[in-house]
Amino acid sequence: MDDIRVALWGLGAMGSGMARVLSHRKGIRLVGVVDSDPQKVGRSLRDVAGIEDSDLTVVASMDEVGEGAADVCIVATSSFVSDVKPQIEVVLELGMDCISIAEEMAYPSMADPKAASEINLLARKANKTVLGTGVNPGFILDTLVIALTGACIEVESIHARRVNDLSPFGPTVMKTQGVGTTPEEFAAGIEDGTIVGHVGFPESMAMIARALGWKLDGIEQDREPIVAAQERTGEHIRVPAGRVAGCNHRARGFIGDRKVITLEHPQQVQPSAADVDTGDFIEIRGEPGISMEIKPEIPGGLGTIAVTVNSIPGVVAASSGLVTMADLPVPRNLAGDAREILKVLRDPGSPGAWEAD
Ligand code: NAD
Repeated sequence: MDDIRVALWGLGAMGSGMARVLSHRKGIRLVGVVDSDPQKVGRSLRDVAGIEDSDLTVVASMDEVGEGAADVCIVATSSFVSDVKPQIEVVLELGMDCISIAEEMAYPSMADPKAASEINLLARKANKTVLGTGVNPGFILDTLVIALTGACIEVESIHARRVNDLSPFGPTVMKTQGVGTTPEEFAAGIEDGTIVGHVGFPESMAMIARALGWKLDGIEQDREPIVAAQERTGEHIRVPAGRVAGCNHRARGFIGDRKVITLEHPQQVQPSAADVDTGDFIEIRGEPGISMEIKPEIPGGLGTIAVTVNSIPGVVAASSGLVTMADLPVPRNLAGDAREILKVLRDPGSPGAWEAD
């Protein structure tokens, strides 16, 4: 069986990390890398992403990668359906499956039902699969929650929390979280949409509901400033006392007036300064009740790179159309040969499949 051929569209922090992983994964071959940044186009992948033994050059458009040149293309360019839909369309036209890490693509009908339906129809027509994934949304506050409900006889309600440290992140994230603003500026930023907190709660909620067969009647969200009592320092920012160190974003999903899903994502610079322990926490109330703690939290960058790369065989094996993480097999690490993993996912009961064991 040939290697699974992968193209990467978007060579930023996430795309470059994926390129490094993909370059050394057995049974996978990175065949093309695309970015629109003139500082990257025309340079070798070795230069741009530090991959010593790569002979790939960054190109400006997927057309230069070529029709049918890859089995799957990972799109790591933006957070929003409106930005990535045209890119997904190009990928499908070129005859490739598509994995997007845009937060809204984890469940795109929440942001844009028409776009989701169009992507689905296009993917069906092309006989290809489109998946949105990442660490959050895509794994911690949805896929992991769904997997745990599999050990419950009854689920009354779900409460999941991701408490993380914003210290390593750059200016874009600080801006969208309102870090460094006064509480008044934070309130104004929420009002005018320049401060958004986490992108992905409606997507995670919809994914959980779809998986459990729940119909949510409503979703409420609120965002509160986390104000520093004393100075906080991140890698790229200093937050004086009295200024906003982060955003506590919460969401609640209802069936009738019953609150069935609560998701929380307090993100702040240097949480240790306020004696806050970071971690991922899932509480399921039901029979049996389940309580899970991961301390510290699964790191956002490495987690996203891993979940995305590890989803490749599941996407290649899937039939066609727009799918969510809840519709694919449990994500697993590609420790062995990815082609062997793909073979099992494609046809676990194929004649002779068990004979070698
Ligand atoms: P980044 O800003 O470091 O990189 C984005 C790259 O895409 C840049 O190199 C940019 O030049 C390139 N790009 C943008 N538009 C392009 C276009 N039209 N054509 C070609 N190249 C284009 O961002 P990142 O940290 O790598 O993250 C990428 C996106 O994924 C962000 O929107 C981020 O919010 C999202 N993300 C989602 C998750 C998740 O859990 N779902 C996790 C991490 C990142």
